Amino acid sequence: MIKIKISKTLEAKIRKGYPWVFKYQLQSDVVDKSSGGLAVLYDHKNRFLAIGLWDPDSDLCFRVFNLFEPIDIDTQFFLKRFQQALLLRKGLKEQGTTGYRVLNGENDGFPGLILDRYDKTWVLKVYAKSWFLYLERMLEVIKTEKNVEQIVLRLARNTKDSSSNFFDGKVLYGPDPIVPVQFYENGLKFHVDVVSGQKTGFFLDQRENRLQIKEISSGLSVLNVFSYTGGFSIYAISGGCRSLVEIDSNSFALKSSLQNLELNFPGEGNFEYLQIEGDAFQKLHELKLQNSQFDLVILDPPAFARKKKHRPQALEAYSRLAEIGVQLVAPGGRLFSASCSAHISAEEFYKAVNYGVESANKRLKEITKTRHASDHPVKFAELEYLKSITGWVKA
Ligand code: SAH
Repeated sequence: MIKIKISKTLEAKIRKGYPWVFKYQLQSDVVDKSSGGLAVLYDHKNRFLAIGLWDPDSDLCFRVFNLFEPIDIDTQFFLKRFQQALLLRKGLKEQGTTGYRVLNGENDGFPGLILDRYDKTWVLKVYAKSWFLYLERMLEVIKTEKNVEQIVLRLARNTKDSSSNFFDGKVLYGPDPIVPVQFYENGLKFHVDVVSGQKTGFFLDQRENRLQIKEISSGLSVLNVFSYTGGFSIYAISGGCRSLVEIDSNSFALKSSLQNLELNFPGEGNFEYLQIEGDAFQKLHELKLQNSQFDLVILDPPAFARKKKHRPQALEAYSRLAEIGVQLVAPGGRLFSASCSAHISAEEFYKAVNYGVESANKRLKEITKTRHASDHPVKFAELEYLKSITGWVKA
């Protein structure tokens, strides 16, 4: 097996649970660079420190599976961790939720792997090519659960490889092609495109925030910016909002949102509903010129900082968005603003939002600040990405 060594400083960090080694941090020459799979990390006294996934092609070349103790990475190993993860999500079904994250990567002991469940369709998303070697074992493990009709593979950008048998959207188990997939979230119905939708098809991480929106929506006019397939919209309507406007640049997402509307409220038309397709910043500006006002403005954009070097522009964009968004909030109204950029800390994000709000000569009186939903546990600061703030907008 590949043997790797690192600095004492990184060793200390790994001992405390940090899960990664990047290529530039390797201190030993790795003899067999061609074989992906497993590697063992040794400490400065040449003793076993960790076993983990080895990805020689990737900058992030080692991901810890197990610390301090050598262990077989076999079906039993995966099964035990899978069962622990399921236990953590046990209460969700009783809450009317059949779509949720089952394995949240490193946080559930599956570094570089996500497993999302949409009722009977389970979607594995891999972020490291070395996982290809363990997919068979993962299928065995997942199939120990009762409700598994299909297992679909999704690939992160860095794992796409035209020479591989694995491609994005491949059906690993069950009927192919995939029939339309539906699931419940807090008793509301959604359809999801698990093959070409973003992430694994749905933003499951916002479930608890969406519930919060439902609870405050009664009688409100709502603007849902970056609406995607209508997650927040359906909750706002089910909470009794008076009117709803969605903005998104993706026409497929908007169509999909309409389908979700029809799925939950067939033929009901007792609220105003409008979709606007285009760039959010531009469309918000146009709404402002028309003096449009809303009781609740929801801002849930894509990650503005995908890389560390994008942080300054991202912070500026969060501010600009809050600045224009807040100007569309009617007197006595509220703003919800979220960020899913891992490279922006919660504190930096809240600061950027407040800066934007103040630039519009308004104040945000905080109601809640939230982080990850319960099926997205976070054990490492580096993996904490979601943060949101809801506040009353004051003049
Ligand atoms: N709030 C959604 C998730 C948002 S994902 C939910 O709860 O499901 C981000 C969305 O922003 C995507 O649908 C994408 O199409 C859209 N988007 C990205 N850039 C945009 C832009 N400049 N203007 C408008 N929409 C944009």
